[in-house]
Formats: sequence, C-alpha cells, structure tokens
Amino acid sequence: MKAGIHPDYHEVTVVCACGHTFKTRSTIKGTQMRVELCSNCHPFFTGKTAGRVERFQRKYAQAAAAQAAGKAAAKPGAKAAPAKK
Ligand SMILES: [Zn+2]
Repeated sequence: MKAGIHPDYHEVTVVCACGHTFKTRSTIKGTQMRVELCSNCHPFFTGKTAGRVERFQRKYAQAAAAQAAGKAAAKPGAKAAPAKK
C-alpha cells in the first residue's frame, strides 16, 4: 500500500439509537459512529412490519370521513374546496 494516499481505516464502534452496538471498520474521524437504524431494529430485518399498512389505511379512512363530513356540513350549492394532500 502506498503511504500517504490512503485514508485512516480503523475500527469503530457503531452505536444505534435502539441501543445496539457493533464493531466495524471505517475511515470516519473518531472511534464511534452513531446511527438511527441498524439491522437489529430496522423493520426490514426484524420483520415487524405488521400494522404499517393498516395504520396508513386507518389514517386515510379518517381523512376521507372528515372530508365527507365537511362536505355534508357545507351549504347546499356552495362549492367545496378541492381536497389537498
Ligand atoms: Zn438499531
């Protein structure tokens, strides 16, 4: 390896927001890397995705119901404002 052209590649401890830590190697400054997601807590790896679609559908249904209620309460003939996302 040619000296002076390679970044400092050293062992670092990755600390996730979920509390999980593991060691890897990196060229970052310092010896600690803080992350918000890791393979210990991301739904892709944990498989705990149940409820996400249902949660979205519930939210969507509530919004639609609120819009319908708003339309019903409006004066007859009054033009309803276009729904904005
Ligand atoms: Zn994590």
